[in-house]
Amino acid sequence: MPAPQQLKDEALFRTACLVGGDWIEADDGSTISVDDPATGDEIATVPSLGPVEVRRAIEVAAVAQRDWRRVTARERARVLHRWADLLTEHRDDVGLIMGTEHGKPWEEAKGEVDYAASFLEWFAEEAGRANGDVVPTFRSDSRVIVLREPVGVAAGITPWNFPAAMIGRKVGPALAVGCAMVVKPASQTPLTALALAELGRRAGVPDGVFNVVTGKAGPIGEELTSNPSVRKLSFTGSTEVGRTLMAQCAHHIMKVSLELGGNAPFIVFDDADLDAAVEGTLVAKFRNSGQTCIAANRILVHERVVDDYVDRLTKAVSGLEVGATTDPGAKIGPLIDDAAVDKVARHVEDAVGHGAEVVLGGSANERGGRFWDPTVLVGVKADTAMSCEETFGPVAGIDTFRDDEQAVRQANETPYGLASYVYSRDIGRLWRAVEGLEYGMVGANTGFISSPVAPFGGVKESGLGREGSVHGIDEYTELKYVCLGGLDR
Ligand code: ADP
Repeated sequence: MPAPQQLKDEALFRTACLVGGDWIEADDGSTISVDDPATGDEIATVPSLGPVEVRRAIEVAAVAQRDWRRVTARERARVLHRWADLLTEHRDDVGLIMGTEHGKPWEEAKGEVDYAASFLEWFAEEAGRANGDVVPTFRSDSRVIVLREPVGVAAGITPWNFPAAMIGRKVGPALAVGCAMVVKPASQTPLTALALAELGRRAGVPDGVFNVVTGKAGPIGEELTSNPSVRKLSFTGSTEVGRTLMAQCAHHIMKVSLELGGNAPFIVFDDADLDAAVEGTLVAKFRNSGQTCIAANRILVHERVVDDYVDRLTKAVSGLEVGATTDPGAKIGPLIDDAAVDKVARHVEDAVGHGAEVVLGGSANERGGRFWDPTVLVGVKADTAMSCEETFGPVAGIDTFRDDEQAVRQANETPYGLASYVYSRDIGRLWRAVEGLEYGMVGANTGFISSPVAPFGGVKESGLGREGSVHGIDEYTELKYVCLGGLDR
């Protein structure tokens, strides 16, 4: 575990919630436990706040927001830039805290800190461009002016798979436009959120503008969605919980954006550059040990090239070392919890039961615990659990197809629509597939699509709204139309 003394800056190891600039405990002193997935050992406890403390956090956020929205965009941008700089400066410490509570490989943990900082930077730059409009009028005595205003207090509920970046992606645009935020991080990874909060404070985020509440998800979620002072919910997590939260938000007709589960197809046509496709598979499937919502979940390869692709992929995957965050060379970390291991085991067993062949791995790693061997399976049929649900583990399940249209049809046969990938060297073939894929995002000849400049989000049951890019601002602003009349008098 990262004992605080292993950090260069021990004060980043925070185990209380930041509310209104104060580090608070639960009123009744109750806590939840955070463990290291590599060992199962407890790292720390954090407060288990109830609705009363969360209500207080919302109240202080509402008060703080009234002043924050009046701060100039330039000054809000400066604060976000400082926050990004501090994150970069403390990359190793935040990476170590994250790696220990999440288990991701060291380079990925540090990379995620930079990724989180990149959202703060991007939206710092967008702060000064969150313009309204002046529209040609419909009456000669009037002018049509559209103001873009912050929604007010925004709630963010974030997942454990990217403990820093998913907060950066929400808090960047929220603070840039003058909202205040109350964030509830996943219970598996609250320490990264609290380290971010400490750095935000140092960067000059005013008290109450960014608050972190930890504890049991259900009651906190209920308060965040039923309190009329909260005007917006941004949630990243499972479709199941997203559905519940959307229903809860319906009561107050709360503005909501949801980035939910995926079931990404990864299509390889027979003219594809197979080395590029393998490289893309390593990113799209094995990054974060397969625990991403944009993970390639159904790899569909043309039957003419499948053997070649599988040989190359197997060679590449067999070089991925399994280990804990700080083990040198580790590329595949432990899965987040025992339930995640059970799900991966169930998917592999079900696929094999339906005739799939294990080419590599296929079982728990010899280290035991939550470590799973990187796995390649061929002959994974469309009706298996692995093809219908997100596996969220380092398991590549491959199926074959004969013609392009069949591949795209099969790719679309899912209620999800987040990310998709397609490989071909023929631009016409590639483009037809891009247009045919019913997904919010397509990696065309690439497995790497995440960036603050791009609109991230899904269609169908994968969500609503977009995060990142210029469009990310829309989720935290409302348009106010002013008709200025009587100008001829
Ligand atoms: P995952 O399956 O990736 O853990 P979840 O959707 O269960 O995804 O969790 C994502 C986030 O939603 C976490 O912060 C979790 O604590 C929170 N969460 C889970 N259930 C609820 C709920 N009923 N209300 C509000 N938040 C919830």
